[in-house]
Amino acid sequence: MERTTCCVVGGGPAGMMLGLLLARAGIEVTVLEKHGDFLRDFRGDTVHPSTLRLLDELGLGDRFARLPQRRLTEMRMHIDGVEVIAGDLRRIPGRHKYIAMVPQWDFLDLLASAAAAEPAFTLRMRSEVTGLRTAADGRVNGVRYLDRSGEDGAAVGRELAADLVVACDGRDSRVREAAGLVPVYREVPMDVWQVKVPAPRDAVKDGRVFLSIGGGQVAATMDRGDFYQTSYLIRRGSDAALRAAGLDRFRDRLGELLGWDRTVTAAIRSWDDVRLLEVTMGRLTTWHRDGLLCIGDAAHIMSPTGGVGVNLAVQDAVAAARILAGPLRARRVSRADLARVQKRRMLPAAVTQRTQDGEHAMLLRPALDGTLRGDRLPLPLRLVRRVPALRTVTGYLGGIGIRPEHAPAFARRPA
Ligand SMILES: Cc1cc2nc3c(=O)[nH]c(=O)nc-3n(C[C@H](O)[C@H](O)[C@H](O)COP(=O)(O)OP(=O)(O)OC[C@H]3O[C@@H](n4cnc5c(N)ncnc54)[C@H](O)[C@@H]3O)c2cc1C
Repeated sequence: MERTTCCVVGGGPAGMMLGLLLARAGIEVTVLEKHGDFLRDFRGDTVHPSTLRLLDELGLGDRFARLPQRRLTEMRMHIDGVEVIAGDLRRIPGRHKYIAMVPQWDFLDLLASAAAAEPAFTLRMRSEVTGLRTAADGRVNGVRYLDRSGEDGAAVGRELAADLVVACDGRDSRVREAAGLVPVYREVPMDVWQVKVPAPRDAVKDGRVFLSIGGGQVAATMDRGDFYQTSYLIRRGSDAALRAAGLDRFRDRLGELLGWDRTVTAAIRSWDDVRLLEVTMGRLTTWHRDGLLCIGDAAHIMSPTGGVGVNLAVQDAVAAARILAGPLRARRVSRADLARVQKRRMLPAAVTQRTQDGEHAMLLRPALDGTLRGDRLPLPLRLVRRVPALRTVTGYLGGIGIRPEHAPAFARRPA
């Protein structure tokens, strides 16, 4: 049977970062990713200053800077005709005073190519984990997976033995379920429709994200140069009813909210161009079992609000690599080691989710109900409008967050 020291399930931001860091520590690591590439849209394209600094420490900052990207220095909203700058990154500490908007596949490709340079690293694409292997004493000691990497794409059942399995398989984590770990879910008011719309010439706004709110509608537009990646929020569970109301109605409503005429919204040709992403939010009480750890969305499922989940997942991976490299090298990873990772990362995850809860209650729920009005903004928004220094504080919290992680010494490389 195949064997590795650490099996990482899922090649998203958490999994690829963890794979890279452990490989740089000289630990045999195998990442199993169910898809054949990283080319999936709408996975979250925000790379925050905390992650940019980490890339510098890993010697990858220059390569990252060469990726096509747009830079966001302010978090701007339009509420019922009133402009609110909810966060300003221009005065936060450090070299990177912006959020880089980069297609996530470019970011993951960068991590994958850096990891490929490490002899201890293996990435298996088209490898979908279906279950866990356990020893007689109940300790997880590997995974079962379906390997579809053959030329004919046929699924071949395989097993991979490992000293430690790390679940980085995202919000619907199969590994988490197989381990019997159940998140405590939190209420969210919305689901998301994702559409791509060509940027109207006169509407390109220097790569800023605009959260636009008005008339019971909410949309976040990410300026990607020649198109807008648009997230249109709908009330949770209302997808079928809204689709039944017809595509023209959606085009008109979106156009009305964003000031786009029909030539722009005509780019949405059919409902196939409107992708539903069901939003869930929740967190495990215990992130580990003997031989198994969950990090990223597998441990704490993030709402898209604030666009922070990718960076939180990356930070989890850094903490996990720093804390577990020693025990993995000694091939003795205890429950206490795994608990240390949870202890380190629980606070940032809990605070970020609490903030998202607050944003849902203060902003998004009333916005979708049509009760949020520009002339009666909630107190926190009135304060950030009036006090510029507060915008730097919110920019810091959004861009760097609490307990940012630094690359461990074993993973650092010169630029
Ligand atoms: C609609 C929406 C929009 C969002 N927008 C943003 C944003 O703009 N910015 C932001 O920071 N966050 C955003 N988020 C949150 C963000 O997507 C997550 O927090 C983040 O992706 C978590 O990273 P991860 O590595 O833990 O998991 P994921 O990114 O979900 O990666 C999991 C990986 O595991 C693989 N996988 C899954 N199951 C298996 C299996 N059984 N075997 C092998 N591989 C498997 C998947 O293919 C995937 O590659 C958004 C979330 C939603 C719902």
